[in-house]
Amino acid sequence: MKVSVDADVCYGSGECAFRAPAVFGFEDGYGFVLPGREESGDDDELIRDIAERCPSQAIRIDGRRVTD
Ligand code: SF4
Repeated sequence: MKVSVDADVCYGSGECAFRAPAVFGFEDGYGFVLPGREESGDDDELIRDIAERCPSQAIRIDGRRVTD
């Protein structure tokens, strides 16, 4: 499962980085996926949950919004 953040719609809540600091970072008011962590691997369930709770639906899983 490939995870990414669409910075154009990120709301800047920081929730992703707070809940999964090994996968997401937060800088300059935006969340992002840490280098080398684009493949979620064992964290699939946690990442999917975080994506569903992202207030702006900015987190993409395999290139898609979780609500698509
Ligand atoms: S949870 Fe969503 S809105 Fe909040 S920082 Fe992460 S990507 Fe941005």
